[in-house]
Amino acid sequence: MQKFSILSLARNAISHHRNWEKSWRSPDLKDSYEVVIVGGGGHGLATAYYLAKEHGMTNVAVLEAGWIGGGNTGRNTSVIRSNYLFPESADFYDFALKLYEDLGQEINYNIMLRQAGMITLMHDRHQIEGMRRNLNAMHSNGIAADWLSAEDIKKRIPEINMHGHYPILGGICQERGGIARHDAIAWGYARAADAYGIDIIQNCEVTGFDIENGAVTGVQTSRGHIKTGKVGVAVAGHSSVIAEKAGFSLPVTSYCLQAWVSEPLKPIFSETLMSPSYGSYISQSDKGEMILGGSLDLYPSYAQRGNIGTIEHVMSSFVELFPQLSRVKMMRSWGGIVDVVRDSTPIIGKTPVEGMYINCGFGTGGFKATPAGGWTLAHTIATGEPHKLNEAFSLERFKTGRMIDEAGAAGIAH
Ligand SMILES: Cc1cc2nc3c(=O)[nH]c(=O)nc-3n(C[C@H](O)[C@H](O)[C@H](O)COP(=O)(O)OP(=O)(O)OC[C@H]3O[C@@H](n4cnc5c(N)ncnc54)[C@H](O)[C@@H]3O)c2cc1C
Repeated sequence: MQKFSILSLARNAISHHRNWEKSWRSPDLKDSYEVVIVGGGGHGLATAYYLAKEHGMTNVAVLEAGWIGGGNTGRNTSVIRSNYLFPESADFYDFALKLYEDLGQEINYNIMLRQAGMITLMHDRHQIEGMRRNLNAMHSNGIAADWLSAEDIKKRIPEINMHGHYPILGGICQERGGIARHDAIAWGYARAADAYGIDIIQNCEVTGFDIENGAVTGVQTSRGHIKTGKVGVAVAGHSSVIAEKAGFSLPVTSYCLQAWVSEPLKPIFSETLMSPSYGSYISQSDKGEMILGGSLDLYPSYAQRGNIGTIEHVMSSFVELFPQLSRVKMMRSWGGIVDVVRDSTPIIGKTPVEGMYINCGFGTGGFKATPAGGWTLAHTIATGEPHKLNEAFSLERFKTGRMIDEAGAAGIAH
């Protein structure tokens, strides 16, 4: 793998940047693979990388219907954090955060990680009471987080409007929370997986599966047929569609989630701000753009564009929090199809088809989980059994009723 460093940058500058190697190959599809991963988003690519790195499995293909990172991985607002309520979630998301903290070095790719703090704003006494309980739960789970008074928030972000429609009474901050460059996660994992010899095949849609005696034996694609005994599925909003092709159903509903970025501004704040009352969250990118997000469009959809009502809601929240930015122009808006499950907790594990494993149900918040989602799916595929970190996230919980209800932590906080 070509090494990125200050020296390689200087060397390539001298040759007018004409000699950079391609970051990954575009190989032809082989007739068979030991493992086929469906979905070239962050989770699928990370799974391929950890299959090679942790389990020595390199006869692997990642099949992507469009282009890698063109799904939710390249559409999210890039917030990372691990401030969840239940121990199962805290362990999983904090493992992801720890992997993120070393990922840039590990894969020699600048993921532009900025851990400047994730602040959840409180606007009434009920929220304060509820969030104090969450704060205690985080501390019990070993996740560092601090209570901020209204004065602390004003001091930290002098530009924020403390006295809008919903006054700011305090907040909770996870200092290790922040943002990472979402495209870099897809590209970095792709480059690192490719270096192990893994085939990344773009423009290759999976159209069906060969299943004999309840076990998967092959994958049908728009570019031909592949024999394989192991399939890992990581297709987010299209999980139910893929499951149907394999003859089972999933408790997943797909919705559109939107995001917006403004024209670039000078640095105003570096934290990520989330307001449950306003139903929106904001950060400022390294380029200076305001990155805005809100809640789901509240009807199931596979359309990657959102509705006007949500746009108005998020924009009015933004103007309440930063009235002086009311004339800032929005540059782009887009939508992604997210996979929502009833308890807002992912599904990572076996499916009713032997040899087929799934990673889905991350809904509005799976970017922060990407390294752990890939790591645990790789473990499950390689060993045939879940790792301790994902054993509670099996499909079985929808039969046993042992839900992990993270709606409070996963609601609009991505
Ligand atoms: C607007 C928005 C904001 C968000 N903000 C955040 C945030 O701030 N923080 C956070 O943690 N999470 C956030 N999320 C959620 C997060 O983006 C996702 O949970 C996560 O990126 C899912 O990654 P993935 O790899 O599973 O899916 P994706 O990146 O969607 O990849 C799945 C891939 O599967 C491919 N595919 C589908 N069907 C097939 C097929 N039949 N054959 C082959 N390939 C197929 C798709 O083309 C796609 O590329 C946000 C999501 C959106 C839409």
